[in-house]
Amino acid sequence: MIVIMKPGATDQDVRHVVQLIQDFGLKEHVIVGTDRTVIAAIGDKRAVDKGAIETAPMVDRIMPILAPYKMASREVKQDKTSIEIGPEKFPIGGRRVGVIAGPCAVESRDQFLRTADIVKAAGCIGLRGGAYKPRTSPYSFQGLREEGLHILAEARERTGLAVVTEVMGLDSLPAVVEYADVLQIGARNMQHYPLLEAVGQVQKPILLKRGMMASLEEWLLAAEYIINAGNPNVILCERGIRTFESYVRNTLPLASVPELNERTHLPVLVDPSHGTGHARLVPAMCRAAIAAGADGLIVECHIDPEHALSDGAQSLAPDQLQELVRSLKRIAQAIGRVL
Ligand code: PEP
Ligand code: MN
Repeated sequence: MIVIMKPGATDQDVRHVVQLIQDFGLKEHVIVGTDRTVIAAIGDKRAVDKGAIETAPMVDRIMPILAPYKMASREVKQDKTSIEIGPEKFPIGGRRVGVIAGPCAVESRDQFLRTADIVKAAGCIGLRGGAYKPRTSPYSFQGLREEGLHILAEARERTGLAVVTEVMGLDSLPAVVEYADVLQIGARNMQHYPLLEAVGQVQKPILLKRGMMASLEEWLLAAEYIINAGNPNVILCERGIRTFESYVRNTLPLASVPELNERTHLPVLVDPSHGTGHARLVPAMCRAAIAAGADGLIVECHIDPEHALSDGAQSLAPDQLQELVRSLKRIAQAIGRVL
């Protein structure tokens, strides 16, 4: 349930309600809004004496939270969440939309630093690149791992861009936390609950990709795991789902963007690279995603797509990235946002 405080409630009024919630064995989550504070009470509410909370000073009313994902839902928090990423603290989830770009994988220092310069010059706000790669085949390139993290950190130093990289498991989490600005949970790990709980104990932003067979509700419940474990900085990323369709690698359901914007306050990014699998389809889907209300994009870009060690077919060449960002500015402007 949520306890909605009256406008003007003091810290002491809020603390009093928090104490009552704890006394009933529930966990509280305080959200300070622009107008008023709401306190979500999570747990088994059968033993709760609602009257005691309702009559506490400055309590306006109590409402049930209908969605199964509680802290992620718009019912609990109406204001959109904005999450700052990287050294320049770019806000994801505000009026500005940002593009994060980079190769699927960090392949070498030279490849990555050259790409970083291109991504920066194109006007992007973040740099992606996998150091630990979840590959379908054990014989495919698995990533440079720790060495890749060092290269990512060097690229951040050089460009000031926020660095986004995947954390594949609990063993590599401490190293990824040390080097990355945003920790990506890949589609294959969306329901890796121990990993979700572990990144919930980190304070860095988490980019949570949609599982390729996950419903919106399952995805939001995965976000709830992270928030419930203590990290409210979750950015959702639609990357397409597996369907019967074969002209694309995944089917990119862009209706999820406005649907998520109704259901959750969390920022939403779209990844049309994995969402289509073909570089030629990526620019149009990027424009459509921004038009549909996405807070930004994450796209793959390679200095030499034909020779990429992974996902070359869906990677934009440098000039295509530049042209894409230029065309996105016009779309953003048309819907009252800025890029
Ligand atoms: C990636 O970003 O390179 C990746 C592996 O993405 P996903 O988890 O969406 O497949
Ligand atoms: Mn990839």
